[in-house]
Amino acid sequence: MFNNIFMNNVILINPPTPDRKKIIRNTGCASESKGNYLLQPYDFLLIAGMFPSVCNVHYLDGLADNLSQEEILSDLIVKKPSLIITAIVDRLWDNDFSFLIKLRTQHPQTPILIFGDILVEKKYCEEVLQYADGVIASPLELNTEELALATRENLKADPSRYGLKNVHSGLPVGKKSSARKLYRPRHELFLKNLYRFPFATFKNYSTVNISWGCPYSCSYCLASQLPSYYREAEEVLGELRELSNLGVREIYFADLSFGIPYANTRKVLEGMINEKLYFHWSTYFHPNQYSEEFLTLMKNAGCHTLIIGVESYNLASLEKYGRTTPKEKIEDLIKCANRLKINICADFILGLPNESKEDVLKTIAYAKELNIDYASFNIAAPLPGSSIKRMAIEEKRLSEDDHHYDSMGKSKVLSSNLLSNEELVELKNYAVRSFYLRPGYLMKRLSRLRSWEHFLIQWEEMIQLFRKAS
Ligand code: SF4
Repeated sequence: MFNNIFMNNVILINPPTPDRKKIIRNTGCASESKGNYLLQPYDFLLIAGMFPSVCNVHYLDGLADNLSQEEILSDLIVKKPSLIITAIVDRLWDNDFSFLIKLRTQHPQTPILIFGDILVEKKYCEEVLQYADGVIASPLELNTEELALATRENLKADPSRYGLKNVHSGLPVGKKSSARKLYRPRHELFLKNLYRFPFATFKNYSTVNISWGCPYSCSYCLASQLPSYYREAEEVLGELRELSNLGVREIYFADLSFGIPYANTRKVLEGMINEKLYFHWSTYFHPNQYSEEFLTLMKNAGCHTLIIGVESYNLASLEKYGRTTPKEKIEDLIKCANRLKINICADFILGLPNESKEDVLKTIAYAKELNIDYASFNIAAPLPGSSIKRMAIEEKRLSEDDHHYDSMGKSKVLSSNLLSNEELVELKNYAVRSFYLRPGYLMKRLSRLRSWEHFLIQWEEMIQLFRKAS
């Protein structure tokens, strides 16, 4: 039974960013937009969906709603929140931490919950918990029924009862991959004009998760340390029906590795086809999940773009990070995607430890050899909880209190053991120019355009991509 007084005004706040930079905050990652896009913050979306309809949930986004910290704080005085949920990420540590302190000062009695990549590290959990009352390890773990009755003291005393992370239990390890439910996704709160997905064919889009977390174990990625959950196919299909009724035609399935568990995802895809839920959609897809039959099913259900991790020309070198992907699997997937006219965006990491300039140039050349549609070049960054961060601290290239890195390279870049930060930025910018400015490539892009709206989205992405890579 919900205590309606406590749950009357749940306020989710995505804090403003300095200089209105397009920085995305999630539990497993935080990064700056490389183009014009600004992704819907899918963890906030899931958290909103964890509250039943009787709860009054508001969502304020400093960037998408064009609100300053002061404007949000004034709005909170009017709204009288019974629960505040916000985010803090390593890339914006100073900004987000000072905002948290302001929230606590203005609302000394209100429970505040928080999530973000930096909270994978115990030291920062403890620091943040001087002001917040609980850390959310996964939106799908939140026990909102228990939360309805909790005071600040209760939350601190027994976090696991409310589905909050217990800082004393260390990192949230364990790949449970068990099913969790949302009460009601609240997409209407997140249909804001500024949100854009770079590969979308329509400007308005929505985000849906079939799964959350990732069962793979790439040690350079924080997601390898997150628990892993999925939502039953019937619940997801219900959400898709609602989105269809809202007039949404474009979807980003924000699963980190689409297709897990296989049977459940298959049911979603078959349901979409049988019920004629025709969306255009994109997703992250691990090449190990590939089979021609599954890709064909995805295509028939409306998939137009896959984002895959290739990372390096030297796939064997990734094994020490816990990533094993056979080259043939990647190349077969790309061939099949091209046959089916599914676009591929491949992620690459430049400057992993022990990579020389020649290695990085070979990775850039490999990106151009592959018949892919987009390439996302990332500088190896000391992200919270990653093996790259641990290694850099051990080698004294980084101090434990260093923040504000991301793989985009616009804020801070960590030199690798073989390449300086200037060389890494130069190589990344060279990679963008040399990949995208190829006449044959541009012709292929033009041939894949679906509409004037699609052209405008791609054009705006391209302009910003080059602006940010100069
Ligand atoms: S498969 Fe992707 S999301 Fe999963 S751990 Fe590896 S890099 Fe991270």
